[in-house]
Amino acid sequence: MRITALAGGVGGARFLRGLIAAAPAAEITVIGNVGDDMTMHGLRICPDLDTVMYTLGGGIHEGQGWGRAGETFGVADELKAYGVGPDWFTLGDKDIATHLVRTRMLGAGYPLSAVTEALCTRWELPVRLLPATDERVETHVVVDDADAPGGRRAVHFQEYWVKMHAPDAHAIVSVGVEDAKPAPGVLEAIGEADVIVLPPSNPVVSVGTILAIPGLRQAVADAAAPVVGLSPIVGGGPVRGMADKVLAAVGVEVSAAAVARHYGADLLDGWLVDADADSAAVAQVEAAGIACRAVPLLMSSPEATRAMAQAALDLAAELAGPAAGPEA
Ligand code: GDP
Ligand code: CA
Repeated sequence: MRITALAGGVGGARFLRGLIAAAPAAEITVIGNVGDDMTMHGLRICPDLDTVMYTLGGGIHEGQGWGRAGETFGVADELKAYGVGPDWFTLGDKDIATHLVRTRMLGAGYPLSAVTEALCTRWELPVRLLPATDERVETHVVVDDADAPGGRRAVHFQEYWVKMHAPDAHAIVSVGVEDAKPAPGVLEAIGEADVIVLPPSNPVVSVGTILAIPGLRQAVADAAAPVVGLSPIVGGGPVRGMADKVLAAVGVEVSAAAVARHYGADLLDGWLVDADADSAAVAQVEAAGIACRAVPLLMSSPEATRAMAQAALDLAAELAGPAAGPEA
């Protein structure tokens, strides 16, 4: 079985561990978000790709959900001693090595997809990880700023989230997305998949940014495989992160049903909502033409996460109809 998943960072990576546990024999391709990428100290940083890589490769800081286990901060301490900022974004020493390798390879002319493949070789990833695009696409967020002309300013997503702690936002802009193309292998992974999964990643700044790459959303909508998503919104709020703020910025209500409708029935065949908090959403989602089931949706343990992934695969199998016989 070939499974293709569109993933952001922490939420996506955690879910992918459950997906691998639920389908250990499957060939899994992960299409990763690059909208959070940025350049700092001259280093190219891809937070979501790295979170997936470290999580599935066994190098993640488990408690935090991002960054390396056993990290040290010698470089960060030295930068501080020089008075060199920004002070709101700290890079660990081990993590810096990843960014050095990436930046050096990009500088030598390799596309991000080739760089990501090279980085993942070291981690012996059990999935194929593809950046959604080799072009630069960076998410910016329009926020209030009394000192700016017009009273508003666009900041990089990392500044919005890490420095500003996600204040109310007016708009989300994917800078560069018009000129981006799906990275090599992305459209094939969508077209050849038996199942396409949307993990409970942020529907705006993670999955939304991936789908905004020209041709990508259409490829998912046109794919022969059933497309099943899991709600990142449980009981009217994000389980963690700032999905409520960015959903509001794009005019979408913060509810499990509204996120399904935002993705749309042309894209989604199936949707999972949380059984404890959102079972009332099932009828609303089905009324929008999307098959919906209520199952526990909290990734509170590896087993709970595996069961979530299994529920997504079960719904996909149901939507694909009875399996063709051997002669078919
Ligand atoms: P990020 O790039 O690190 O923000 O990670 P993602 O975009 O992949 O995932 C973030 C989303 O995961 C947030 O909107 C959370 O609401 C969602 N999330 C995190 N933990 C859980 C969980 O246990 N269950 C569900 N259903 N969603 C979760
Ligand atoms: Ca992210």
